Order: sequence, then structure tokens, then C-alpha cells
Amino acid sequence: MGQKILVVEDNELNLKLFCDLLRAHAYVAEPVRDGREAVATARTFVPDLIVMDIQMPHISGLELIEQIKADGELAPIPIMAVTAYAAKGDEERIRDAGAEGYVSKPISVLKFVEAVRSLLDAAAARVAEEPAPAAAAGAPAETESPEPETQEAAAPEGEAAPEAPDGAGDEEDGTAPAPDVT
Ligand code: MN
Repeated sequence: MGQKILVVEDNELNLKLFCDLLRAHAYVAEPVRDGREAVATARTFVPDLIVMDIQMPHISGLELIEQIKADGELAPIPIMAVTAYAAKGDEERIRDAGAEGYVSKPISVLKFVEAVRSLLDAAAARVAEEPAPAAAAGAPAETESPEPETQEAAAPEGEAAPEAPDGAGDEEDGTAPAPDVT
């Protein structure tokens, strides 16, 4: 199932746009039109990310972000703020309140989806906070070319190593000349 995204937005057209966009990218979008319901809905829906409008009646997105970030249960959920009035200092205030991301309206469809994806990726990376397992295992993760993979496939585990150096082959299997990874 797709990742769940709570969309808090009082403007019906924007709400529909955001939800349609997210669903088109296989996310599960839950709309919230009234900011006063945002926290309660977040508790029951348990989203992977919250898209938060800033300008709303009754309660501003900024206040909601502060409430959510002060809540032990909800605080880890990344928040992407969306605002039309990007005056100088707005982004800073939004980030100070605790939002992890920020997109200004009118949104660029591409940037909106990219921002959602990168926030979800960052959150997943935080959860999986393991000490770089792939790199430590010696996998050629940093190479620029796909060559190592094809070379490994051609000479698996050094079984077919044609000419092992004298004496060396006895002690260590797999000492066949390593693929020249540059
Ligand atoms: Mn609004």
C-alpha cells in the first residue's frame, strides 16, 4: 500500500489538487478541510507525511506545526508546509516552527511531488539509522559506471579465476584479481 499523506488545506480547489496529485503518484491522501481537526485526524490516520497549508481560518498552519512538533507521538511525522504568502522570513518562521519542508503556492506540480518524495525518503533514512551497511560491506556503491556488476557476473566468486598467483590461492578463496573499479 502507498504511503499515507494527510493534507490539511482549507481551500477546496487546492485540497483537491494536492490529493489528486498525490493519489496519481500512488500515495494514500486523506483530506482535512478544517485545521481544528488536523491533530485528531493525524492521530487516527497515522500519516507518513503531513502537507500543511499555512493560511487557514480558526487556526494557522504555523500553530498546528508547533502543536504537532510538541506532541511526542506526532512529532516524528515530517511536515511539508505550503503557503501563498512567501514574504521574507516566512520560510524561516515555518522551519523554526518545526516543518521539515516548504513549498510556495502556486505550486509547481513537479516540485511538489519531488518535495514529498524527498521528505519521505529522509524520514525513512532517519528510521533506518544503521551505520551505512552497503558501503561497509565493500559493495561498489560509489562507482559511476555499471561495469563492476557485469564483471562480477562474468567471474563469480573467483571460481573461474584462470591464473591464481602461486601459493596465494591456497589460503584465501576468492583472491582472484578484483575487477578494476575506478
Ligand atoms: Mn488556506
